[in-house]
Amino acid sequence: MSELAAAVRAGLREVFEIAAGGDNLGAVDALNALLEAHPIRPRISGHDSGLWHLHVTGHGAGIGAEYGAGAVWGLAVAFTKWGATRFGLCSGNGCDNVYLDTSTNASRRFCSDRCATRAHVAAHRARKRAQAAN
Ligand SMILES: [Zn+2]
Ligand SMILES: [Zn+2]
Repeated sequence: MSELAAAVRAGLREVFEIAAGGDNLGAVDALNALLEAHPIRPRISGHDSGLWHLHVTGHGAGIGAEYGAGAVWGLAVAFTKWGATRFGLCSGNGCDNVYLDTSTNASRRFCSDRCATRAHVAAHRARKRAQAAN
């Protein structure tokens, strides 16, 4: 991972940590700082194929800058749509992924089905063990 990508990742993770703690204003501050550090400069591109699509950074900015600005912009849009309560840190044992809860009843606790299944299996085994000990 490039230095820029790592910095973006750390910045995004910080937003999730602040937001997951319920601090809306803190999340806004952190997101605004990221937006300033990774500004978007929308540009239509077609390369040679003529398949028009949008890039979010200026010509020649590089894939890292494109990724960073796109990720920060996406998260800022998600925040204005969903609010801090939908930003979560995975409850999976030993998992440090984050997630955006877009479920209708805001019930998500894991980053993926894999973590949810693992936690379910672990809880099931723990119950079995507890029963066996009795
Ligand atoms: Zn392109
Ligand atoms: Zn996870």
